[in-house]
Amino acid sequence: MRTFAPLTPALISGLAAIVGPEHVRTDVPTREAYGHDETEDLLYPPEVVVKPANTAEVSKVLALAHAAGVPVTPRGAGSGLSGGALPVFGGILLTLERLDQILELDLDNRMAVVQPGVITATLHARALEHGLYYPPDPASSAYCMLGGNLAENAGGPHAVKYGLTRDYVLALEAVRMDGGVFRTGGKLKKDVAGYDLTHLLVGSEGTLAVITEATLRLVPAPRARRLLLAPFASLEAAARGMVAVYRSPVTPSALEIMERSAIQAAAHHLGRRVPGQDAEALLYVEADGMEEAQVERDATTLGEVLLGAGADDVLVAENPQRAQELWSVRKAIGEAVRAIGPYVECDTSVPPSRVPELLAGVREVAKRMGVRQISYGHAGDGNIHVNVLAASAGTPGSAAGRGPALEAAIEAIFHVAVRLGGTITGEHGVGCSQARHLPLCRDDVALDVMRQVKRALDPKGLLNPGKVFDEPLPPARHLDA
Ligand SMILES: Cc1cc2nc3c(=O)[nH]c(=O)nc-3n(C[C@H](O)[C@H](O)[C@H](O)COP(=O)(O)OP(=O)(O)OC[C@H]3O[C@@H](n4cnc5c(N)ncnc54)[C@H](O)[C@@H]3O)c2cc1C
Repeated sequence: MRTFAPLTPALISGLAAIVGPEHVRTDVPTREAYGHDETEDLLYPPEVVVKPANTAEVSKVLALAHAAGVPVTPRGAGSGLSGGALPVFGGILLTLERLDQILELDLDNRMAVVQPGVITATLHARALEHGLYYPPDPASSAYCMLGGNLAENAGGPHAVKYGLTRDYVLALEAVRMDGGVFRTGGKLKKDVAGYDLTHLLVGSEGTLAVITEATLRLVPAPRARRLLLAPFASLEAAARGMVAVYRSPVTPSALEIMERSAIQAAAHHLGRRVPGQDAEALLYVEADGMEEAQVERDATTLGEVLLGAGADDVLVAENPQRAQELWSVRKAIGEAVRAIGPYVECDTSVPPSRVPELLAGVREVAKRMGVRQISYGHAGDGNIHVNVLAASAGTPGSAAGRGPALEAAIEAIFHVAVRLGGTITGEHGVGCSQARHLPLCRDDVALDVMRQVKRALDPKGLLNPGKVFDEPLPPARHLDA
């Protein structure tokens, strides 16, 4: 296992001189608060939490840590689901939460210049005030930050029509581990000058550089939306429904699936019956656009397509408030699974037309290996979150500890995804929790290229170590242990 230089009193003083003593925290409650994200119940407290206020401070902190040989883990809101923000080797936790300004809304170019600590929903709201839309909308958008979205290339329900975070990034300012600040791209729709460093950094999980500013593209906000809910009596019928929607002339602005286990978990968590509760699978299908009448026609087409494919019924949200209520059921699943107990989420991604085979394969694995699973997700993107519950799930106070049976089930599920032409993560990242599975979907040469890129930007391997590439890690503590 790798070891790093210890944090010395001199280094702590140096950090305090850069960001101010009140923004350097070594007390246990703060270290523990920043020692976990939303990944299982893992706890890896850093040795120190540092809160810079601007790019210059980020640069100085990194340069100091680089010279001292101390690891640094960047962090946004800590809502990650692959352990990307966990300081697995201790060292410095660098939170970007104080870089929280929308620096510019450039209406003439339809662009926003933002700092990484801006909450995603804040940008949504500001853009909407001007009739504009920033489409990436992870279900965590009420609290996750744009820097974390950029580092994970976050998606969300509307990616099926509008694309992922990377599709909206035009320029970045970033800081290399040695403190060097660099800019990529510009307020440009066209720019092929040199390598595309912007899109190298997007999705790099905080392992190549710390993002301190981003220029994002905005689009006109759709003025009308219509949400349909289609319950199906079997998974196979729902699969036919999905494929029928793919083949229809309407591109939905959302196409989500909840399997029976997910619907039941959400209903239980919310403490009430939810529409489609007794269905074997439920599709959320949304149409949006600029004109009410066109959206109405698209929704009618989608409804007919779903009924033709065997939906038991098609429920239409009669107004935006009802649509929001229905979306809240879909958005409750993450919390619902967490409430049941220890689980591991496999963020599988396959070509969209192969989602039915993926879901069937997952069910087969779960039955054969005797594990419980709850599957749901972004069917239109082929991105299904398969939550595999530990044997102790449902037992209060039990800690995750993956254990050999759970590990074997996870591995088998990833094999199903890869066999279908898929990958081990669609939007949550590899982080530390999926690193050992990366070779399943990337060949040796590709892994070698990735390692060389990492070495080029961070030769000492100090920036967010223990992520993406498999390596021995210190044992985690568990949150409630
Ligand atoms: C209930 C729930 C629902 C979710 N739904 C979705 C969803 O629909 N779609 C989706 O894609 N994800 C989803 N997520 C996962 C998570 O919210 C996203 O990955 C999000 O982008 C993480 O943002 P964050 O600010 O919390 O980042 P963190 O968790 O703090 O960090 C994530 C990664 O980004 C790095 N990082 C953070 N800031 C920077 C920076 N400025 N520079 C460089 N690296 C940085 C960190 O080192 C880490 O590797 C969900 C999570 C939860 C808990």
